[in-house]
Amino acid sequence: AKADGRGTWRFFEVEMDIRLQARRALELDLREALANGEFQLHYQPIYDFRAQRIGGFEALVRWIHPTRGLVPPGDFIAIAEEIGLIVPLGAWCLKTACRDAMRWPDGIKVAVNVSAVQFRDEIIVASVRDALADSHLPPKRLELEITESVLLKDNLATLATLHALRRVGVRIAMDDFGTGYSSLSYLRSFPFDKIKIDQSFVRDITPDADSGLIVRAVIGLGASLGMRTTGEGIETEIQFDRLAAEGCDEGQGYFIAKPGPAATVHETITRWSGARLT
Ligand code: C2E
Ligand code: CA
Ligand code: CA
Ligand code: CA
Repeated sequence: AKADGRGTWRFFEVEMDIRLQARRALELDLREALANGEFQLHYQPIYDFRAQRIGGFEALVRWIHPTRGLVPPGDFIAIAEEIGLIVPLGAWCLKTACRDAMRWPDGIKVAVNVSAVQFRDEIIVASVRDALADSHLPPKRLELEITESVLLKDNLATLATLHALRRVGVRIAMDDFGTGYSSLSYLRSFPFDKIKIDQSFVRDITPDADSGLIVRAVIGLGASLGMRTTGEGIETEIQFDRLAAEGCDEGQGYFIAKPGPAATVHETITRWSGARLT
């Protein structure tokens, strides 16, 4: 048993070593990726239930690695934050998203995810101003999506930055609502334009009429606070119809469309224009 244990341990060490090397290799590649033009933005539509049309798109970054192919953000955003790449990468995302949005029909918005690290100092305010000036996109067509991790950092400085961004004229959405520790107290300290209800709650909506009670409650909360609500991760027609019936403002998810390259945006808008055929 002792020999087995030792053997297992050695195997574990080797495995850790391989993982560390893989992570280091990825990190080295990531440092070059921005200069090599390996990032792309994909866009996922956000459906406006009342207007019954696409109201905007969320920009989601993709890394097209020369040998690995498509690397999802979950595999590199944390590393990019650690090595400080997220600041120039975030600025690139803002600039690219604003330029792309200028080619869309008037009024269609673009939402960009902002990482906690980008939020340190007031660099983010300059990045947003630069992206708007470079593209000539009206500020009200740009929305920033912020998760609670951003807000946790340093409450007063964060609030000052949020207010500075608000003065620039962009909209601010609280992303992944309900997954953090203090979702409710953040709603009290800052007037978000929008609450994005995390997909884990939307997933609870089943044909059972008693399902999705949290989603219903958050939609009510948004209504009483004067904040718009967006249901994320809609995968079924039942979830789509229920969110519409409950008075949710917007919906997003594979049922409407998966994220796609910038070239798919116009076709997606057309496919969802006019009343939905059932
Ligand atoms: P998020 O901001 O919550 O984005 C939504 C994620 O859910 C996206 O994954 C999207 O593809 C996925 N999704 C959308 N609809 C559905 C659905 O119906 N079912 C399921 N199962 N998933 C759905 P993605 O693109 O892999 O992005 C993952 C996360 O990476 C994002 O979560 C966001 O936190 C982060 N991220 C993506 N792009 C950026 C970026 O440009 N900057 C920063 N800082 N973070 C980003
Ligand atoms: Ca988001
Ligand atoms: Ca989200
Ligand atoms: Ca998420």
